[in-house]
Amino acid sequence: MDIIEEFKQLVQIDSASGREQAIAGVLKEKLTALGFDVQDDGAGSTFGGNTGNLIAVKEGTRDGSILFCSHMDRVANGCHIHPRQQDGKLVSDGSTILAADDVSGLCAILDGVRRALASEKPCPRLEIAFTVGEESGLWGGRVLDLSQFQSPFCFVIDSPGTIGRLINGAPGLAKLQVEVEGRAAHAGNEPEKGINAAHILCHILDTLRDGRLDEETVSNFPLLGTGNDATNVVCAKAWAKGESRSRSREKLQHYIDYFQEHCQKAATGTGAHVTTRTDLSFEPFLIDEKAPVLQTAIRALKRLGIQPRIEQGGGGMDANIYNAKGLPSIGIATGYTKNHTTEESLDLDSFQKSGLLIQALIDEA
Ligand SMILES: [Zn+2]
Repeated sequence: MDIIEEFKQLVQIDSASGREQAIAGVLKEKLTALGFDVQDDGAGSTFGGNTGNLIAVKEGTRDGSILFCSHMDRVANGCHIHPRQQDGKLVSDGSTILAADDVSGLCAILDGVRRALASEKPCPRLEIAFTVGEESGLWGGRVLDLSQFQSPFCFVIDSPGTIGRLINGAPGLAKLQVEVEGRAAHAGNEPEKGINAAHILCHILDTLRDGRLDEETVSNFPLLGTGNDATNVVCAKAWAKGESRSRSREKLQHYIDYFQEHCQKAATGTGAHVTTRTDLSFEPFLIDEKAPVLQTAIRALKRLGIQPRIEQGGGGMDANIYNAKGLPSIGIATGYTKNHTTEESLDLDSFQKSGLLIQALIDEA
């Protein structure tokens, strides 16, 4: 099947984080038809999803093994997609995302594998992981059992940008939360007996360093709320939720520590009780340019006459999890831009070459 036709077919199968069963079923059929042994690892049950990661393995006809990964879920607004082809690109009809993130990755892997098998050249052991719940928190990747793979590294086909872009690093992310407990009091009769939690929370946020912290560290606190549903009571509870990202593990930890300390300090003397919660969602990673995983990708691109561009990404991906677990992994771009928005598009030249790149990677493995 032509890669563009296959893309149109797959994006029209509705999918979402934790709701990947339909597309997983179709992918399982396709991989089985190509001679793969395909398993569902049950990862869906760990986060309330309706299906697990799809693990596909085809034994090699020569030494070596290679692992590819893409995710089957999409961000919100990824159902009822009507793809259109215009000006050398695929776009949605403007009412939904296009879901090239990450259907383009699924298609590139299928296309490359088909080409490699049709070439009748001896193939290494082919290993594929199509993950679930990536967009909602890398849930599938977190529980993926990497010990079942023989490949020494992994190519995660899930990055924006045109063909040639290789992602060798990405920031880590911490989720941060502060809750202020004050004291309720009647706002008309005795406001002086209350402790205004909203007021204290505003002071905490107003004096907190956030936004761009340095060239590789940021933070953002966009979610605020109180326990009040009436204006006649002094606010007894107020909270804020946010996140911090950094390419440096030390700087991320430094900000987590600072955040906790600052929230306590800023509320000193107010009588309020402040609690903070911090969760490290995933670690940052940075792969050395000389590492075999990157060198293999560079050789495969050069084989196709494409200039490699090695860059660090800005978001979290399954590669963050795999690298933290000790499996060197990089991201590979397939031609999409403005992913997660209704303006998402997929450059057809890059997309078609991404299938050839998968084939070249198999040859290089
Ligand atoms: Zn993605």
